[in-house]
Amino acid sequence: MSSHPPTPWDPIEFAATRHRIVINLSGGKDGLRAGAMAMDIARQAGVADRVWTAHASLGPMEWPAVTDGGVRWPSASELAAQHSQALGIPPERHIEVRRTREVDGERRPFDLLTFIAERGDWPWLGRARTCTGPWKTRMVYGAFTAHVRTLRREAGGPALFANVLGLRAEESRDRRNRGMWRRTTDNSARVVDEWLPAHQVTTDEVWEWTLAEGLPYHWCYDSYPGAQDRAGSSRCSCSTCTLANHRDLLLAVGRRPRLAELCALVERVRRVPFNPTVTMAELIERSRRRDAPDPGVIVEENADFERMERDVHEALRKPPAWESRARIDAPGPAILTTGCDGCPSTM
Ligand code: SF4
Repeated sequence: MSSHPPTPWDPIEFAATRHRIVINLSGGKDGLRAGAMAMDIARQAGVADRVWTAHASLGPMEWPAVTDGGVRWPSASELAAQHSQALGIPPERHIEVRRTREVDGERRPFDLLTFIAERGDWPWLGRARTCTGPWKTRMVYGAFTAHVRTLRREAGGPALFANVLGLRAEESRDRRNRGMWRRTTDNSARVVDEWLPAHQVTTDEVWEWTLAEGLPYHWCYDSYPGAQDRAGSSRCSCSTCTLANHRDLLLAVGRRPRLAELCALVERVRRVPFNPTVTMAELIERSRRRDAPDPGVIVEENADFERMERDVHEALRKPPAWESRARIDAPGPAILTTGCDGCPSTM
């Protein structure tokens, strides 16, 4: 088995020579489309049994499940598992990973917003992205370490991985410039090639295919759960992704007011704007205007969110770990004083 992809690049030969094909599923529409294209190729190559699916969970930062009109609509994590099943992957080959850390001798979830509160900075575009790498890529990478040991022994060389992502050329200039595949890791233990099967597929084509196949998609895409109009969020990412467009953010603020308030608290205490062009405080104010998009549904936050809320408050009681250069000019406290847990107006 060669460790280098064949030239000119043939997807079937490429798939046939990988020890593992890992389809990353976020619960969004693009990962599912890319996953189905990768599965077709894996089947043609006769290696469908080497395909795994992975969901790197961002916990309460992801779109959660909602119940509306007596109907329960699944969370992003639940939908990722459903998508895996729809692709024909057996449950034992679907993995969900989530970042944790040890607190007082106990392993506990570690959330992106807690990290942001501790660090005192937001993961903006154009700077070292502090979210996708440690919270997604590295988590999935780590989940396959045990496979690497076995595969290396069996192959007598590095384990060869295809890492399937749902990125598409239409989404941004940066993504347009990416090739169908590129090598992202090359060492004696493992070789990882990023593979973008849906790179040339348009958004309209993704939706046409999803609907024609009758596949489930996340409620956040609709104006309200079950509307089936795709008039909600344009992406199914972290609900309050710092890189999202303003309309998506206004919808997120309307749909998850407690999460928006928590982001605003971090922004206010750390004095670092949530986004390079708009603050969370401004988004909250704009979401209350008459011309703001109708949220369609308001999420009732769960116990996992409330734990994150406590962790964020705790983090804000300490000085930031990082000196951000992007300060909001307005004066305010650099740390959250104790006693304001239930009373944000004390800030
Ligand atoms: S959705 Fe946005 S905030 Fe969340 S991990 Fe991705 S880039 Fe970072």
